Amino acid sequence: MKEKTILVVDDTIANLDILVDLLADYDVIDAASGEDALEIASDEHVDLILLDIMMPGMDGYEVCSRLKSNDRTKDIPVIFITAITGEESIEKAYDIGGADYVTKPFKPKELLSRVKKELRIQDLVSKLKLLASIDPMTKLYNRRYFTQMAQYTFDLQKREGHTLSIIILDIDKFKQINDVYGHQIGDSVIISLADRLLQHKRSSDIACRYGGEEFVLLLPDTSLDNATKLAEKMRQCIESGCLTTEDGQTIHCTVSIGVSRADFTNESDIEHSLKRADDALYEAKAQGRNRIIVKK
Ligand code: GH3
Ligand code: MG
Ligand code: MG
Repeated sequence: MKEKTILVVDDTIANLDILVDLLADYDVIDAASGEDALEIASDEHVDLILLDIMMPGMDGYEVCSRLKSNDRTKDIPVIFITAITGEESIEKAYDIGGADYVTKPFKPKELLSRVKKELRIQDLVSKLKLLASIDPMTKLYNRRYFTQMAQYTFDLQKREGHTLSIIILDIDKFKQINDVYGHQIGDSVIISLADRLLQHKRSSDIACRYGGEEFVLLLPDTSLDNATKLAEKMRQCIESGCLTTEDGQTIHCTVSIGVSRADFTNESDIEHSLKRADDALYEAKAQGRNRIIVKK
C-alpha cells in the first residue's frame, strides 16, 4: 500500500491524467469538479490536495475556503495549480489558506519537490500534535487532549444514538506511597497503573492522565453496567498487587473509582457527566476508599 493519498482536482481530464502519472509513487484520487473534491476530502483520508482554480461550477478558491472552514478538512494542505499568473490570484490563494501556488505549465520535478515538501511539513505537524496530546511519563493522553476529545466524543455518541460511560480513578493515599518508597517509585507506580489501564481498555476507549495520580477513561458504546464491571476489574487488579516497579517489586495500593454515564436526553455537555463521575469518586473516598461509586 502506498503511504500517502493525494487528491488532484481539475476539470480538464487530460490534466488529471498527467498528474496521476507524475504522482505514481502516491495513492492518487482524482476529481473533475470542486463539488466532488469536497465530498471526497470529507469522506476519505486525504493527505494533500492539488487544486485547479478555474473550473465551471465551484472554482478552486471556493473549494479551498470550504475545506478550511470544515473541521474534518481544514488541516489538509492545498497546493493550487493554475494557469492564472496574476499577483492578486496568488495573494488570494494564500489568504484563503492555500499552502503553495504553482502555475501551469508546471515543471514536473519542481511540482514533485513541492509535493514532498508539503507532505514533510504535514508529518511534522502530526508528530507535534501527538506530542502535545500525550503525557510523556505514562504515554496516556494528557488532560489537554482529553478536554478536546471529550465533548467531541459526547456529541458523536449522542448523534449516533449510542452510549457513553466515564470512569474516574484516583490512587488512594498516594502521598504515603511517595513518603514510604520515595518519589521515583511513586512515579513507577503511576506508570504501572497507566499500563494496566491500557491493558484493560478497548481500542476505542480513551485513557487519559487527568492529574498527578488521577486517571479518566472515556468508554464509547459502553453501558453503565459494563463500565462498572471494568472498574471493578481494575480495582481488584490493583488491590491484589498488579502494580509493580521497573525492577519488578510489587507495590500494594488501592484505588477509588467514580463511574457515570452521559445523559443524552437531558444534557448537551459532557461536563455534567464528568462532574457526576467526579462526585462519585469523592464519595468513594469519603466512604473509606478502595471502592466504586456509580452515579447515573
Ligand atoms: P487520596 O486517597 O485522598 O487521593 O490521597 P492522596 O494522598 O492520594 O491524594 P492527594 O491529592 O492529597 O495527594 C496526591 C499526591 O500525589 C501528592 C503528589 O505529590 C503526588 N503526585 C502527583 N503527581 C505525581 C507524580 O507524577 N509522581 C509522584 N511520584 N507523585 C505524584
Ligand atoms: Mg480548469
Ligand atoms: Mg489520590
